Formats: sequence, C-alpha cells, structure tokens
Amino acid sequence: MRKPIIIGNWKMNNGPEASYEFYKGLNTLIGEQEIDVDWAIAAPTLSMISLFPENDGDLYIPLAAQNVNANESGAFTGEISLSMLMEYGVEYVIIGHSERREYYNETNKTVNEKMISVLKNSDLIPVMAFGETEEQFNNDETLKVIKNQLEEGLANIDPEDMKDVVLAYEPIWAIGTGKTATPEQAQKAIKASRDIVAEMFGQEVADEVRIQYGGSMKPENIKELMEQPDIDGGLVGGASLVPDSFYKLITYNK
Ligand code: PEP
Repeated sequence: MRKPIIIGNWKMNNGPEASYEFYKGLNTLIGEQEIDVDWAIAAPTLSMISLFPENDGDLYIPLAAQNVNANESGAFTGEISLSMLMEYGVEYVIIGHSERREYYNETNKTVNEKMISVLKNSDLIPVMAFGETEEQFNNDETLKVIKNQLEEGLANIDPEDMKDVVLAYEPIWAIGTGKTATPEQAQKAIKASRDIVAEMFGQEVADEVRIQYGGSMKPENIKELMEQPDIDGGLVGGASLVPDSFYKLITYNK
C-alpha cells in the first residue's frame, strides 16, 4: 500500500515573514491532529528558517528543497549543496521541475546526474518531475515524451534506491494555469509511467514507487484525482501558499 504524499512547491513565493505567518496558521489548523499522509513544503531556502520546528509552536513541517547542485561544494555561485540541505534536516528535493528545465536549461542528463548524486550521497528523497508541453499533448505525444524523460532521468539508478524515489507527473499545460488534467488523463499518464518504471526496474519496484500528479491541484479537485488507482499524491504550487488551502490538501482524506 503506497502512502500518499503531498508536497507544496512555493517556487519563489513566501519570504521569511510570510512563511512565519504560514507556520503559525498551519500550526493552529493542525493542532493535535495526526496527519496520515506524508507531506512537505518546498520553500525558498531563506524561508525554511521560518518553517523550522524550533519556532514557537509544536508543528514539525517537513522540508523539501526546490533544487540542488550535483557537486559536493565549490565555486558554483547561487547554488546549494546536498550537505547543506542535510545539515538543515531537509527531507526531500525536487529535481527537474519544468520551470528549471525551461528557464535554467536543465535536461534529462542533468536531471539524471542530480538524481544519482542525491541517491548516492544523501538520505534525501528525490522527487523527479516530468511531463509534456501543451503542444506535445495536442500532438498526442504525451506517452513518447514521458517515456524518454523517465528512461533518461532514471538511467543507472539502483533498483533498491528506486523504491524510495518519488515521481511527479506534471503536464506543463496544467501548471499554474488553472487547467487541471482530468482524473482519467492523469491516471492514464501515471499508469503508463508506472509501466515504464516496471520495464526499467521490475514490477516490485514499480508497485512501490509513489507517483504524484501536479498541475493546478487544489482542495476542490484533490479527492477525485486521489481516487485514481495510480495517483499517489500531489505536487502543488498555487494552492499550497496559504495555510487554509494547504491544510485542506493534506487532510483531503479526513
Ligand atoms: C508546480 O509548481 O509544480 C505546480 C503544479 O503548480 P500549480 O499547482 O500552481 O499548477
């Protein structure tokens, strides 16, 4: 049984002050409740300070990074290393988000280098994002594109390590657009992705790997998406920015 996993991706939103307000708001909403899904916030690095559990409040917010450099340390201006994320207790790292592929020239090859580095050199869980553009979707190329992204992005990963990897299928035309894939469309692409993982790593691994959907997921549509048999969670941008909406997402099953 795969445990659902919901990750908020704040991108370049919510600075330290707004993040502290978020912390207080979510702390009040969750109170003493057990949250029975895995969850995390991928905050801007500086904002992580405001989400750290040593703030006044009992809430522990699991942290995710939005990116990492594949090198250990050195002259890489503007980058952050795995050891820095580990030192701060960060648990997850998003690799290959479509915005990084589009604006920062990340390719399947650099995504693969980062995946291997995270799995070899840390205990962080990588969340590898992939998905087709609107044009590819309209040309019926979704399956071809995701097969290529998965085969190249996940190349040479040890099958044992692969079980812990989280995948995030994010059709680019649905990210930040308010246009959500229908549950059937998302299920079809995610099931196909699981079959590709099975071809690459075996059925046992494929049955364990969690695959999220991302693309305008929100409290109003999370339930119907999560009812699909292969959708194991969400990578959520806009709807994760404020406590009320994020709280509804991580308690969608209550
Ligand atoms: C994302 O940032 O990965 C994302 C899916 O954003 P949104 O939920 O805003 O579409």
